[in-house]
Amino acid sequence: MTFRGDISRSGGKARKGGGGRGMAVGGGLGGLLLVGLFVLLGGNPAQVPELLGQGGDQAQLETGESFDHCQTGEDANTYDDCRLYYTMFSVNEMWQEVLPAQAELQYSEPGLELFTNTTRSGCGAASAATGPFYCPADQYAYFDLTFFDQMRQFGGDSAPFAQMYIVAHEVGHHVQNLEGTLGLSDYNDPGADSNAVRIELQADCYAGIWASYADKGEDALLEPVTEEELDAALTTAAAVGDDNIQRRSGGEVNPESWTHGSSEQRRQAFLDGYTTGQMSSCDYLDRGVYRTT
Ligand SMILES: [Zn+2]
Repeated sequence: MTFRGDISRSGGKARKGGGGRGMAVGGGLGGLLLVGLFVLLGGNPAQVPELLGQGGDQAQLETGESFDHCQTGEDANTYDDCRLYYTMFSVNEMWQEVLPAQAELQYSEPGLELFTNTTRSGCGAASAATGPFYCPADQYAYFDLTFFDQMRQFGGDSAPFAQMYIVAHEVGHHVQNLEGTLGLSDYNDPGADSNAVRIELQADCYAGIWASYADKGEDALLEPVTEEELDAALTTAAAVGDDNIQRRSGGEVNPESWTHGSSEQRRQAFLDGYTTGQMSSCDYLDRGVYRTT
């Protein structure tokens, strides 16, 4: 997925943070998600421990402290930090319209923090091992840039889309926070049919809604999504399925421990959102409160 070269955005609730090197919380879920994504993208599994922050020095990033170099869509197609920054604009602009229309809720933008190595969030310390996450306490989405940088180096063509998909998924959790449903997720009570899985699948479905709107209309930030890009999207969604991750990490496939859903569930959830553009198609919690537009 590529941004239109001539579009331009600035401002927004975005910051860069981190850079610390101390110990941080190790997030099992996020780490596994990153392993799944990384393996999907063609990486050598032997590299994974380093990516997850247990190895030696982290790579130096070429990106600056600010977003000043992210002037146009062309910059967003070139630099990882600008791509994440512009994806945030694209996702926010979609929800500004869709959330009031379909859920009768006002949308407020979440913050975006790109960090290197470790950072402090309203939900505690985080590192590359934590994986991308959304913190409801401060309403910021956190992304470790070092990981994205390495993912791009090893991952080839599908890495840019994977980055955008992750942003749209995390903002999906912000929408759930605004809806008041995010708290229903309980990772201590997992399973294929659990609320934890339903909440994760809904965030995938919301990412699909974004993809369905992102290239539509005069103000669209994205070039028209191609068949190949949609395939890459679905492959990404499937790669981070719990069954796939369990298999890849050499374990048994055990649906009772799932927290994010199977490959097929995640693939289907993205597709549900993409093909309809409707929150009602993502109503895995059976709330029945959405309007079709
Ligand atoms: Zn999630």
